[in-house]
Amino acid sequence: MQVRKEIQIAGVVQGVGFRPYVYRLATDRNLGGNISNTPAGVTIEVQGPPDLVEDFVSQLPEGAPALAQITHVFVREMPCKPDGCFEILSSQTGAHASALISPDVAVCGDCLRELFDPQDRRYLYPFINCTNCGPRFTIVWDVPYDRPRTSMSAFPMCGQCRAEYEDPQNRRFHAQPNACWQCGPQLEFCNAHGHPMKTLDPIGAAVRRLGLGDILAVKGLGGFHFAVDAMNSAAVERLRQRKQRVEKPLAVMVRDLQAAGGFCEIDAEARRLLDCRQRPIVLLPKMKGTAIAETVAPNQRDLGVFLPYTPVHHLLFALGKFAALVMTSGNLSEEPIAIDNREAVDRIGSIADFFLLHDREILLRCDDSVVRPSAGRLRQIRRSRGYVPAPVRLHKEIPQILAVGGELKNTICLTRHNLAFLSQHLGDLENIESFDFFRDAIAYLSKILEIEPEVIAHDLHPDYFSTKWALTQKGVRLVGVQHHHAHIAACMAENHIDGPVIGLALDGTGYGTDGQIWGGEALIAGYRSFERAAHFAYVALPGGAAAIREPWRIAVSYLAQTFGESFLGLDIPFVRELERGKAELILRMMAQRVNSPLTSSCGRLFDAVAALIGIRQEVSYEAQAAIELEMAARSSSETGGYPFAIRRQDGCWQIDSSPLFCGIVQDLRRIVCTETISRRFHNGLVETLARLACLLREESSINRICLSGGTFNNLLVFEYLIRKLESCGFEVFTHSDVPTGDGGLSLGQALVAAHSVGSRRSHFPPQEGSRCDSD
Ligand SMILES: [Zn+2]
Ligand SMILES: [Zn+2]
Ligand SMILES: [Zn+2]
Repeated sequence: MQVRKEIQIAGVVQGVGFRPYVYRLATDRNLGGNISNTPAGVTIEVQGPPDLVEDFVSQLPEGAPALAQITHVFVREMPCKPDGCFEILSSQTGAHASALISPDVAVCGDCLRELFDPQDRRYLYPFINCTNCGPRFTIVWDVPYDRPRTSMSAFPMCGQCRAEYEDPQNRRFHAQPNACWQCGPQLEFCNAHGHPMKTLDPIGAAVRRLGLGDILAVKGLGGFHFAVDAMNSAAVERLRQRKQRVEKPLAVMVRDLQAAGGFCEIDAEARRLLDCRQRPIVLLPKMKGTAIAETVAPNQRDLGVFLPYTPVHHLLFALGKFAALVMTSGNLSEEPIAIDNREAVDRIGSIADFFLLHDREILLRCDDSVVRPSAGRLRQIRRSRGYVPAPVRLHKEIPQILAVGGELKNTICLTRHNLAFLSQHLGDLENIESFDFFRDAIAYLSKILEIEPEVIAHDLHPDYFSTKWALTQKGVRLVGVQHHHAHIAACMAENHIDGPVIGLALDGTGYGTDGQIWGGEALIAGYRSFERAAHFAYVALPGGAAAIREPWRIAVSYLAQTFGESFLGLDIPFVRELERGKAELILRMMAQRVNSPLTSSCGRLFDAVAALIGIRQEVSYEAQAAIELEMAARSSSETGGYPFAIRRQDGCWQIDSSPLFCGIVQDLRRIVCTETISRRFHNGLVETLARLACLLREESSINRICLSGGTFNNLLVFEYLIRKLESCGFEVFTHSDVPTGDGGLSLGQALVAAHSVGSRRSHFPPQEGSRCDSD
């Protein structure tokens, strides 16, 4: 007796070796039938004796290839057909494309062995790949994922590659980017004007130039990198000057795990993160006195390190003798990374001395991801290459929504069913190039995910480019979402919980419902609404954006608020070194309320303390003062903390920082060291937040607390606060797979919008206040 079954599988099942896997599973059991890629995933028909078909179905998910991610399996009986051997059919097009495209994957061990095997026909071939590795997301322009719909369509396969591609027993069966020396993409070594240099060995030429201290622009998987020898201080310094990147740390690609161990403190978890197939940049505590140039990451506790992930990277390290190369985004300052050869020469030719180019087109730029381990989990800081476009799974179905994020470190989010697709890091939308990238990413992701949003969610800030773009869209419903509400909703969504929760949203800047700049907020929040339960007391931000670049201004503002103008008589270094003229101008500005918006920002409080104790008066990149303040605090083992006052005012709790500033000034007069003061500030802040959380729990009887916002990139605050809250009996939820900073905002916006429109939709039952038991 024979049975026939149809099995539909959805998820990441294309371009990951799923069909050859199924083919082997079927032929091992002598089953008939076929498999094909469909826009929804794959469809399998299988026929044979009932016990063998049953065995096939049960084995199917278990032995799936490493890169496959199955989201749904649907099995149904079919009438038997007269067929022979199991077949792989060509892809079906049309219908609804809900198949998921795999992120780009680091070159695998099998390919690396061939790369360095002189007997192999791909010996030293810089674009070697197989079904288990290579580019995916950055080379595909439509689904189903097949070669004609990728930028590899420009490279017709040679006879040998074609034979591998068509042989179900071969490990390159249907590897869409399959290529070799004869038929595939090639490297070219060019000067700064993009003119090819006469050489048969582009990698050799590149390695020689790196050895001489030159700056090399290397075209990679998701864009260009600038590469220089990380041990060569002069080269690093030159790169910084040309890139106009004064102090912001640079990422370092290291030869291998052993080399990484020579530069950073790495444990088993760090080793696992460095070596995973996504190959993110991992922030790890740097060791003192290594050979890495100090200018790579000045005044930083951590170093961003990553391992080679393309064959070109491996060849550079194999042919060169470098232990580490600076590999930083190929862009000028905050512009997006370059991807196109011509565009790159025009835009970054003045920075690079030479180019290592290739002729495979990058269809959508994708920066390196940045992660770190903390409190036993991975923490995404910049979720991009290797992770995008893998979806974040939600615990409920929501309508098709586009959420456009905030302004800085922007990402967008598209939703379908119970999946949320966060885009790669799109950067700061302040410049025209980033804004173009933002629009391209929306168009591209909507297309490959086949999502036509009914709703667009945006920030409340009227001047954000993302908001302005959203407001020009026609024929969709617009939902404005408060910045910190979005932060907390993102944390709830990632943790599969419903409200209400106590949400601590701490960051630099977010537009408030009262038109002021919020940033130190405690909310009682569900997805649909929130109540502002507490915030840091407002302080003037003299000069607005200028105060963010010059933290000394905020220190003046806090001192004036605490001591009145008599603070100018305080005998502390900050006041002695203050330029009287400038300080008086600022005091006048604040008194007359000229360009002095009010803020409850937690980020600015860190800035004020850093400036007051002499760590930093001006910053050259976001959060620099706070990072250096954290570093100072880490070198102290002080356990005491400064007090803050929590008082009830205007209908909610306010955290008053005056006692903190009194304490710091007293310590400065006693010449207590910077490290101790900084530690006392961190300790006092965490103790105050925990005390506030307990107050809010008493009032609301809510025991769940969500932590979100850029301030939680400060691990001293983050890890201590988790411990403290847990010891008070709270159920604490934090971010892991979604950034805690503004890179995670779009996810929260999407969820809030879903609930605000959901109440009008019959098939969508929003349930605030209920416990969710799924997952
Ligand atoms: Zn491979
Ligand atoms: Zn070939
Ligand atoms: Zn924020």
